[in-house]
Amino acid sequence: MEIKAIRGFNDILPDEIGKWQFVENTAREIFEGFGFSEIRIPILERTELFSRGIGEATDIVEKEMYTFSDRSGNSLTLRPEATASMARAYLEHQLYTFDPVAKLYCLGPMFRYERPQKGRYRQFYQIDAEVFGVGNPMVDVEVILMLIHFLRRVGLEKLELQINSLGCPICRPRYREELKTFLTKRSFQLCEDCQRRLQTNPLRIFDCKVETCQEAIADAPKVSDFICPECQDHFEKVKKYLEMAGLVYILNPRMVRGLDYYTRTAFEVVSYQLGSQNAVTGGGRYDNLFQEIGGMDIPGIGFAIGMERLISLMPKEKEFIQRPHLFIAAMGGETQREAYQIINQLHLEGIRTELDYEGKSLKSQMRRADKLKARYALILGEEELKRGKAILRNMETKSQEEIPVGDLLSVLKKKVLL
Ligand SMILES: [Zn+2]
Ligand SMILES: [Zn+2]
Repeated sequence: MEIKAIRGFNDILPDEIGKWQFVENTAREIFEGFGFSEIRIPILERTELFSRGIGEATDIVEKEMYTFSDRSGNSLTLRPEATASMARAYLEHQLYTFDPVAKLYCLGPMFRYERPQKGRYRQFYQIDAEVFGVGNPMVDVEVILMLIHFLRRVGLEKLELQINSLGCPICRPRYREELKTFLTKRSFQLCEDCQRRLQTNPLRIFDCKVETCQEAIADAPKVSDFICPECQDHFEKVKKYLEMAGLVYILNPRMVRGLDYYTRTAFEVVSYQLGSQNAVTGGGRYDNLFQEIGGMDIPGIGFAIGMERLISLMPKEKEFIQRPHLFIAAMGGETQREAYQIINQLHLEGIRTELDYEGKSLKSQMRRADKLKARYALILGEEELKRGKAILRNMETKSQEEIPVGDLLSVLKKKVLL
């Protein structure tokens, strides 16, 4: 029987990889320009890192984690997100002793046992950026500015920034109670999941897609009406700094974010590019996470971008296929040997070169050069080669010139490695 990939696990094939590499390279370039450094964290962590960090009463921890026991009986989990691991690494390696402020980013796969749908996988990729150790609202806006700048650089347009304040451990419990009281009166409208959420984590009801639940929360009290003066002050400063950074925003009082550890600033970016409204990414401040996992009082803020979603929203015109710079068509015998010499030399110079291995006719070699979308073809004929010459053909314009074989490298460098 043929072995296939596991459901929800996806291959990213060579004809798609150009987009992925472009996104990853752009993230690295922009984030490092904003003073961030890459961190690589393990794929596997102890289960309690996520159950404590993300919160027991969340969908992720309740039903989406890949959790199993290893041979020693430890409960381990494939990381469903990166923030908790990055925070753990910051504490474990005492990065704060060098400098209390850590600006970190991480690229890689995450794992959640969700229902596979088109464009949604159980192994999916995220770009994460986090700042640990700064409570100042300036950094909230630094992170948002970096995010928007990155999204524009990968080609996303018609972006809308939405913000909200979720309060803090002082003011949020009061809101939670208020919301619970309000929804208890309407609990007959709530789906089974939300009946349970009403007891464990009523804020999560905002994220429920069931229509009757949406109706039940339509007139619910807003968290922004309950935040304490300190949270209010923080939120006002965020708005002021956004204006200073030239970023337009709208207030979205219904944005509560799925994870327990968020506090104060929450943000989402929505794209209207493809005619409909698409949430691109979101993030926020989480001044409680460190207490949950390590007992220290360290503020944090960051965002996570789902790469599959991001790539699906990127403009289609842009070309990401890795085309050969050169295709060498050799006419057998001595020319084949010459072609082999040339290709080895060009590969060492970083010039993507392809060649005919089968000794086919010139016509069929040129067909292959076309199919691979090679930018140039080098035609090595025996007569020309005796004179030390070859024909270089521009595959787009179809124009060709005879060049000395010895000049090939310098000619190509000018043409393809600009
Ligand atoms: Zn507060
Ligand atoms: Zn519901």
